[in-house]
Amino acid sequence: MMRRKLAAGNWKMNGTSAALAELEYLALQHPAPTVDILICPPSTLLTQAAAQSGSIAIGAQDCHANTSGAHTGDISAEMISDSGATAVILGHSERREDHDETSEQVRAKARAAHAAGLTAIICLGESEAQRDAANTLDIIAGQLAISTPDTATASNTVIAYEPIWAIGTGRVPTIEQIIEVHDFIREKLIERFGADIGDAIPLLYGGSVKPSNAAEIFTVANVDGALVGGASLKAEDFSPIISALE
Ligand code: PEP
Repeated sequence: MMRRKLAAGNWKMNGTSAALAELEYLALQHPAPTVDILICPPSTLLTQAAAQSGSIAIGAQDCHANTSGAHTGDISAEMISDSGATAVILGHSERREDHDETSEQVRAKARAAHAAGLTAIICLGESEAQRDAANTLDIIAGQLAISTPDTATASNTVIAYEPIWAIGTGRVPTIEQIIEVHDFIREKLIERFGADIGDAIPLLYGGSVKPSNAAEIFTVANVDGALVGGASLKAEDFSPIISALE
C-alpha cells in the first residue's frame, strides 16, 4: 500500500510576519516536492502564509467544533478553509493539557474540519507516567477510538502519534517503541474502517524529530511522515527532514 507521505511543521505560538521568510525559503528549496509538506503557523499568519507558500500546504493548529457563534477568541474550520489553509492539527497534547480538551471535543472538531473540507491531523500520545505503568496501548486505543469521527477517510484524516514525554524534550522513543505503537494504530484503524481506508490513513510520528534522527524514524513501515515542532521553525532544520522523507 502506497500511502501519502507528509512532513508537517507545527510552529505553535511562534512567529510574526517576519517568519514568513522561512516559508518562502522552504518553498524555494522544495519547488517540486515528492512528499506533501505542511506548515501550521499561528492563526494570525494563515491568510498571508497560504497566499505565498507555493508548493507547501498551510494548516491551522486548532479549530472550534461549531461553524460560528459566541465563542470569543476561537476560529471555525470554515474560517480556516476560507484563509486558504487546507488542514488543521487537532487534539495536540498542549491543547489537551492547557485547555482540558477531551477526546470527545477533538472528535467534534474533526467532524467540523471534515465538513469544511479540511484534513484533520488528530494527535494521540501517552504521558511518561502512563508509559511507565505499561498503559501506552490502552491510552492510545482510547484516544484513537474517541477522537476519530466516523467521517474519517484516507484523504481527510491523518493520525499523529506524539508521546508527550518526547515533545520538546530531545527524548525520542526507541525504534521498537515507535514500531509497536504505529503497528497498533494501523491495526485499530483497519479493524474500525476496513482495509481500504484503515490501511491508507497516513500515520505521523511526532516528538523531538530532528535532521539527525529523521531518516531512522522514517525507516519504520507504518511511519508515513512526521509532525515536527521545534525543528520546523527554521527552514534549514526542516528542509533536511523533508529530504529524509523523499
Ligand atoms: C509537537 O509539539 O508536535 C512536537 C512534536 O514538538 P517537538 O518536535 O519540538 O518535539
